[in-house]
Amino acid sequence: MKKLKPIVDSLGRPLRDLRISVTDRCNFRCRYCMPEELFGSGFSFLPKEKLLTFEEIVRLAHIFTELGVSKIRITGGEPLLRQGIVHLIEMLADIKPLQDLAMTTNGVLLTKFAAPLKQAGLKRINVSLDTLRDDTFHRLNSRNYSVRDVLQGIEAAQKAGLSVKVNMVVIKGVNDTEIVEVARYFRERELVVRFIEFMDVGNSNGWNADQVISKQEIISRIHAEMPLEAINPAYFGEVATRYRYQGTETEVGMIPSITQPFCSSCTRLRLSSDGFLYTCLFATEGFNLRDFMRQGADDEKLRRFIEKLWAKRADRYSEERFLTGDGKNRKKIEMSYIGG
Ligand code: SAM
Ligand code: SF4
Ligand code: SF4
Repeated sequence: MKKLKPIVDSLGRPLRDLRISVTDRCNFRCRYCMPEELFGSGFSFLPKEKLLTFEEIVRLAHIFTELGVSKIRITGGEPLLRQGIVHLIEMLADIKPLQDLAMTTNGVLLTKFAAPLKQAGLKRINVSLDTLRDDTFHRLNSRNYSVRDVLQGIEAAQKAGLSVKVNMVVIKGVNDTEIVEVARYFRERELVVRFIEFMDVGNSNGWNADQVISKQEIISRIHAEMPLEAINPAYFGEVATRYRYQGTETEVGMIPSITQPFCSSCTRLRLSSDGFLYTCLFATEGFNLRDFMRQGADDEKLRRFIEKLWAKRADRYSEERFLTGDGKNRKKIEMSYIGG
């Protein structure tokens, strides 16, 4: 495979990470992502013919790695709902220059998939779990699964040899009183939890700045019970600020997109399940690579298109929101469509 000169955007940021959404469907209806009222039975999900095929995904992944991408994360909707997902992982794991292949999932199907995914070549998995209590869980995702289903999924992933992290989105008045409980539970099991500030992604989740619990507040609450110490970032572009519980090797992370935006080191591109490319999580518009490919563009044309797109990239939405307090009136893609 060709290795080209790494490309940088208009703010000097290299292209390193690619997030690929493989479906816009989900078996949850998290109120901060796909509220039931808006994503109910009347909602039109993407028809199969509009989704990228595995061959198309893998072809693009090859081109992206030539352009500098070394990490790919598979996401959704819920990625484990995509038929044949294990085979896709197997195909992507074959791309040799790729250093990291990861997935984000809500975890309820993991007991079935963890071992096959590991065998197919998946390295890491992030499991989203915002509470340890079934009543909060049901209120948050409007479904009747039990927290136990996810915990068993996490255990299965560990047993299979996947590196596991847990993601908890914190929302004031919904689950913020459970921060310490979640931290303690996973600390005892030596698993990393990353606490995520509730973000204003999309236009459906009724986001309000008053519902955000800041990174600082989360740290203070945990630190008061289980003292923390800061750790240096592992690499350029790491989104989580990392801490360690004093006297242990167990880490905990914060993803402070609202109170401490990290646009200046954002090295990510996002590919939706229908083949649109987005240079920012808060973008209004994407670029239709699927039709470009289906109309016969060869690899060279696709490569040049992506290079140009990245070279022009000037996105820094979270920093702008932080500086101006503005962002509410912008039309944005939905989280369930692009996958976080
Ligand atoms: N369904 C999978 C899952 O939930 O892990 C993958 C897709 S989901 C969109 C990816 C991540 O985005 C999850 O960890 C979820 O908690 C997070 N997320 C969704 N909406 C969010 C929001 N408004 N603010 C912060 N994180 C959010
Ligand atoms: Fe589904 Fe993940 Fe969105 Fe929840 S956060 S609705 S699990 S896509
Ligand atoms: Fe990257 Fe956009 Fe998020 Fe900034 S707001 S960190 S540019 S995805």
